[in-house]
Amino acid sequence: MSHHDPTPIAYVDHAVDFGGAEHSLIELISRLDRTSFTPIILHTEGAKWLQSDRIADVERIAAFSPHPLLEQKRDEVSTGLLRLIGNTWTALRLSLKLRGALRRSSAQLVHTNSLKTHFVGGLAARLGRLPLIWHVRDLLAENEGYHLLRRAARLLRPRVIAISEAVAEQFAGLPAEVTVIPNGIPLDKFCPGLPSPQLCRELGLTADDRVLLMVSRLTPWKGHMTLLEAVARLADRWPRLKLVVVGEVAFWEADYEQQLKQRAADLGLTEQVIWTGFRSDVPELLRLCDIFVLPSVGEPFGRVIIEAMATGRPVVATASGGVPEIVLDGQTGLLVPPEDAQSLASAIQTLLADSQRAQQMGAEGLTRAHQLFSADRVARQVQELYQRILSKGR
Ligand code: UDP
Repeated sequence: MSHHDPTPIAYVDHAVDFGGAEHSLIELISRLDRTSFTPIILHTEGAKWLQSDRIADVERIAAFSPHPLLEQKRDEVSTGLLRLIGNTWTALRLSLKLRGALRRSSAQLVHTNSLKTHFVGGLAARLGRLPLIWHVRDLLAENEGYHLLRRAARLLRPRVIAISEAVAEQFAGLPAEVTVIPNGIPLDKFCPGLPSPQLCRELGLTADDRVLLMVSRLTPWKGHMTLLEAVARLADRWPRLKLVVVGEVAFWEADYEQQLKQRAADLGLTEQVIWTGFRSDVPELLRLCDIFVLPSVGEPFGRVIIEAMATGRPVVATASGGVPEIVLDGQTGLLVPPEDAQSLASAIQTLLADSQRAQQMGAEGLTRAHQLFSADRVARQVQELYQRILSKGR
């Protein structure tokens, strides 16, 4: 290969649905300097996120069939991963198939983007003697899954990119080289301003409503239940309070949506809560709200928090995982302990009662998002890492 040919980089992600990890990956790939690098996506057959027009011109290889081993939810990752060990044959078969795909792609470096592909893709990279980067976006409870991840890191020796300091701490004490590269978003897609009247009409919101908004997959660790309880505590005092919940359940936990709606009904909140399902107009939806809320338990990062900040909205979130690295408590928002409806309600109450302070926090969040959390900065840092790794190998 001549010195000037772009280096093929294989991106491995097993997800079928469109989660934050895939949004981040698309932002990265679409910003690669194509004179230096050629991206190739190794994915699961039928993955929905591949339809994004931002990556329409990128070569792709269906390296996995949808497989139960690849579809565990995070909270079950320990059983999932134990099953993975138990089923060594399946893991090996997936890795070997992937190794074949890597060969065909002539990739010079493997960049794994999702938890299960760190294992399967990592093994395939090592079998093919290729440099390996794990882009780690998960925060695991200290159970079997966590220990297995650490063991795999010892064995596979990846270069680790962690999306927050909290995520990086999972590798403490290991020989792995860890680089923290906080996530970024396409800042130009988000801007402060008034909500569209048409969108307000569509969702049944009126000018005197006070609006809270949460955007996330409907999955238990994001903390919707706590937020419903907090809203119930505020409902008497703020009769015009509305909560807009954006996002959908994953197919394997379809029951959860019904549980949430039932809980809202039991709390007497049927009128207050608006469920939108999955939306592709998050930038417009964010402008609907007075306060953005994300009450997760163990949030590795929370792209939506940056998106809300870039929309100039104050954030009420939990002091958990990577969130305190994003939200400055008392300055760009308020942080409360996770799973604490009373504290969450008081933080929301504080900002509802003092709109001026809320707006000031939103303005400071906007500045902070632009200073620290752009997708351009992420792409630059990742490519610098590629250069460092590739120049060592030569
Ligand atoms: N998102 C979206 N539509 C929805 C729900 C979420 O476009 O209905 C986007 C959201 O704007 C964000 C990403 O999905 O960019 C979720 O990323 P985050 O890091 O907040 O959560 P994750 O799903 O990775 O835990």
